[in-house]
Amino acid sequence: MSFLFESFSGWKKYCDEHSISLVDSVLAYEVEQKGGSPEKIWHGLNQAYQVMKEAVKTGLEEDMNSRSGMIANGAKKVYHNPLTVLSPDFQRLIARALAAKEVNSCMGRVVAAPTAGASGILPGTMVTLQEIHGLTDADICEGLLIGAGIALIIEEKASLAGAVGGCQAETGSAAAMAAGAIVHCLGGTTDQLFNAVGITIQCMLGLICDPVAGLVEVPCVVRNASAAAIAFSSAQIALSNVSAVIPVDECIEAMGEVGASMESRYKETAMGGLAATLTGQQIAKRILIQDIELLPDEPLPD
Ligand code: SF4
Repeated sequence: MSFLFESFSGWKKYCDEHSISLVDSVLAYEVEQKGGSPEKIWHGLNQAYQVMKEAVKTGLEEDMNSRSGMIANGAKKVYHNPLTVLSPDFQRLIARALAAKEVNSCMGRVVAAPTAGASGILPGTMVTLQEIHGLTDADICEGLLIGAGIALIIEEKASLAGAVGGCQAETGSAAAMAAGAIVHCLGGTTDQLFNAVGITIQCMLGLICDPVAGLVEVPCVVRNASAAAIAFSSAQIALSNVSAVIPVDECIEAMGEVGASMESRYKETAMGGLAATLTGQQIAKRILIQDIELLPDEPLPD
C-alpha cells in the first residue's frame, strides 16, 4: 500500500524505509488512488502544466477585464512597465502570477492547484523557474507532483479551502506547494524541501479570506503575486540551510489551529476585512444593481 500523506515526518520516514524518492511515493499514491499507470499520471501532469502555461500566455496577451471592473489588465501593465523595481525575472514572476489568476477571474481556463483562488501561483512560479534555470517540462512535472504531496498533507492536517481556513489555506498552501517544487527542481534535499514548506506557511499564517463583493478578484489576484514571491524567498532561504526552527508539521498544525479559530466573517463570506470596507461595500452594491438590471423582465401578473 502507498503512503497516505498524513504528515511530513511520516513522508520522510516512509521514503527512507522503502528506499523510494519523494516523487515516486506521490506517484505510487496517485496510481493507487486513480488507477491506471504511472504514464497516465505523468500525462495528466503534463496536460495540467500546459494549461498553466496557456493561462499565463492568455493573461499576458488577451483582454483581461472582469465584469465587475475590478480586474483591468493588471498583468500586462506589470509585464510591460519600463520601470523594473528589482529585476526583470522578478517583474516577470509577478506579471505571470497575476496573469494566470486574472484568467480565472475573467472566467478563463486554469488549473485549480490547489484552488481556483490560488490558480496563479504555480503557473507564475513554475514558468519563471523553468525560464531561469532552463528546466524541461518533465522537470517541472516532478515539481508539481511534489506539490501534490504537500497539498495532500495540508488538506489532511489543516485545510486547502478559504471557506474553512481563510486565505492562508488557499494562497498559503499554493505558495507552500510552489516552494517545495522549486527546491525539488533545484536539487534540494528532503529536509530543505520540507523546511521551505514550513517557512512559507510561517509567512502566510493568519491570512484571512475577504473577497470584495464575494468575487474571487480583490484581493485574490494580488495575493497570488505576493504568494509567488514568498515561494521563491522561502526556497532561497531553505536552500541556504536556514532553519524554519518550527518543524513543518507543527507549522501546518498552527495553520489548522488558526483557521479553526478564525471568525466566519474571514472565511469567504465577504463580511469582514477588505470586503467590509466602505469601498468594498460600495462595489458589492454596484455589482448587485448591475446583476438585477441584467435579469429578464418578469411578465406582469394578469
Ligand atoms: S481571499 Fe479568499 S477567495 Fe480570495 S484567494 Fe484568498 S481564500 Fe481565495
